[in-house]
Amino acid sequence: MPATVTLLIEPLAADDLSSDLESTFREVDASAPALRVGELSTQRGDGIFETLAVVNGHAQEAEPHLQRLRNSAAICELPEPNLAQWHAAIERATAALPAEGEFAMKLVLSRGVEHGPAPTAWLSAAPAADFSAPREQGIRAVTLDRGLAHDAAATAPWLLLGAKTLSYATNMAALREAKRRGADDAIFVSSDGYVMEGPTSSVILRHGDEYSTPAPSGAILHGTTQLSLFEHLGELGHRTAYRDIPAAELASADAIWLVSSVRLAAGLTALDGSPVPFDAEETRAFNAYLLSPRD
Ligand code: PLP
Repeated sequence: MPATVTLLIEPLAADDLSSDLESTFREVDASAPALRVGELSTQRGDGIFETLAVVNGHAQEAEPHLQRLRNSAAICELPEPNLAQWHAAIERATAALPAEGEFAMKLVLSRGVEHGPAPTAWLSAAPAADFSAPREQGIRAVTLDRGLAHDAAATAPWLLLGAKTLSYATNMAALREAKRRGADDAIFVSSDGYVMEGPTSSVILRHGDEYSTPAPSGAILHGTTQLSLFEHLGELGHRTAYRDIPAAELASADAIWLVSSVRLAAGLTALDGSPVPFDAEETRAFNAYLLSPRD
């Protein structure tokens, strides 16, 4: 069974409930040319995406990812995605992957070809990188200035902050800066001093028995992994809170995690060169939960 799958998708209108969904997918070879030169996703990063994990044949949290895709489309004024079509594409691709192992599945909805009539969409899935070291041993992070106030989504909606757009060049630059500073990852801090998110992850802090994460004000992406973990922690009887978190609270945290769909939970061992308490056992429990089938 191939370990990669790529589907080109002819996007249907959100209210089209009658089309034969299978006929809107075309499986292609990931190494063969598939996009046009006029494609606005590649020219301008003008599009949105989702990355979800497929673990042992189960697409994790497909519905929350698709709800976020729909929200990103609304923020970017892209046509509303047909979620039944995307669910069918996820199912078809998942069935084509090996039944064991971890895979990263990317869904892309682009504004399409310049002057073209329709958006472009595709799905690609490939084996996930080996994340056993960050999950087991933790990661070092640095704080980086995001250059925006934590309420920037309200004052400057054209920045599209709550959308998962394809414009990730600055997020990738932040990761390079983190590496230059001898760390593995970064935590963005707003210009007015609040914790925001990682370049590709959500931030969770623990103080005593309270787990907190920055309030989803629209300036950060509301992470599906954080949401799922908070539900799980709530079921276990723990207190969880969404709030504005001053960056100074990072120094007093009993533990800090960066969580995301494919790497899952990575505990911090150091922040800006100072040690952070790392709870290997709790992190292992988080990852055991996150690797279990979740919808
Ligand atoms: N914040 C940003 C900027 C991200 O890119 C991501 C994921 O890539 C997340 C948060 C975490 O989201 P999720 O848990 O849904 O993967």
